[in-house]
Amino acid sequence: MKRYRIATIPGDGIGKEVVPAGRQALEVLAARGSEFRFEFEDFDWGGDYYRRHGSMMPADGLEALKGKDAILFGSAGDPHIPDHITLWGLRLKICQGLDQYANVRPARILPGIDAPLKRCGPADLNWVIVRENTEGEYSGAGGRVHQGFPIEVATDLSVMTRAGTERIQRYAFRLAQSRPRKLLTVVTKSNAQRHAMVMWDEIAQEVAKDFPDVAWDKEMVDAMTARMVNRPASLDTIVATNLHADILSDLAAALAGSLGIGPTANIHPERVYPSMFEPIHGSAFDIMGKGIANPVGTFWTVVMMLEHLDEADAARRVMAAIEHATANPKLHTRDLGGSATTADVTEAVCAHIAAAKSPLAAA
Ligand code: NAD
Ligand code: MN
Repeated sequence: MKRYRIATIPGDGIGKEVVPAGRQALEVLAARGSEFRFEFEDFDWGGDYYRRHGSMMPADGLEALKGKDAILFGSAGDPHIPDHITLWGLRLKICQGLDQYANVRPARILPGIDAPLKRCGPADLNWVIVRENTEGEYSGAGGRVHQGFPIEVATDLSVMTRAGTERIQRYAFRLAQSRPRKLLTVVTKSNAQRHAMVMWDEIAQEVAKDFPDVAWDKEMVDAMTARMVNRPASLDTIVATNLHADILSDLAAALAGSLGIGPTANIHPERVYPSMFEPIHGSAFDIMGKGIANPVGTFWTVVMMLEHLDEADAARRVMAAIEHATANPKLHTRDLGGSATTADVTEAVCAHIAAAKSPLAAA
């Protein structure tokens, strides 16, 4: 019997509501005829931890994560703590500390979801966005001097390295190659940003030579927003810098129906360190504590975690349960125009997982 060691980090806000839902789905899955088990360890890091200890996570926190097979993460962000402290103190600390350089974000219109793009069918929006996750605009380089004086100066320096650029583009080309359409769009802004983004374009051209079967094109990030709305079917796999992909993937999730649905994997492809899986949404201060957060993003996140653990059958089983739930409007939460609660959706998804024929029973 295989055992996977999973760290759960609910974090803040609705992270504390959706991560337990995701864990419940994994527990039901393991209990029902699967050939694996999970050993969970929960970490109470986040805003409450900060109020007690003055930091979002302990100094040796990364060491505790290194022995895990995967991490299920909720959200970092507390209404009473500045956002740059919560984000850098927890999520970015883990992503950068465990070198999770490929942030992978699929988007598609699930059954039963009323998506805002009325001119396209569900099959026309089936994307996966690859986000550079360790450098670029979020490298953390920069500073502030003369704070509060009229001569104050503040800089956020975007740092892009050849190694960092090449590895993320290679990852994106490989992912595009593994998908049926073998189609990659490289997002850039090399007209205005004339140093790093020009290098980004040049490296894409070089890496493309190793993937002759992948059709690829280049799009400016501003034009890309319009193309996502007007010609969604012209896109499949997309690679972009840390900031560009951050923005484009929220747009992708909204176009597919809701921010509450989208999943993310922060992947360390070489598998020296564990990868981290999270819904794309944040703490959602406006609905936290009400029990109405959409857990679908977290369930889809769980699917990505299972795929990463090479449990393809189990991943398909959870995805089928998700699609069964979204197809039923009575199981739509408020963000989808319904009135279902987190618990309603979780119960339905878990029941479907439990009822599905296990691979063992089928054999
Ligand atoms: P958000 O994703 O928290 O919320 C944006 C809007 O979407 C809100 O109206 C919210 O109610 C809605 N929404 C999001 N997820 C939902 C769900 N599962 N079900 C139903 N509705 C949902 O983004 P924000 O308001 O920009 O940020 C709030 C806090 O979260 C900030 O502190 C921010 O820094 C943090 N944040 C953290 C992460 C992360 O840890 N990965 C990501 C984004 C934002
Ligand atoms: Mn974001």
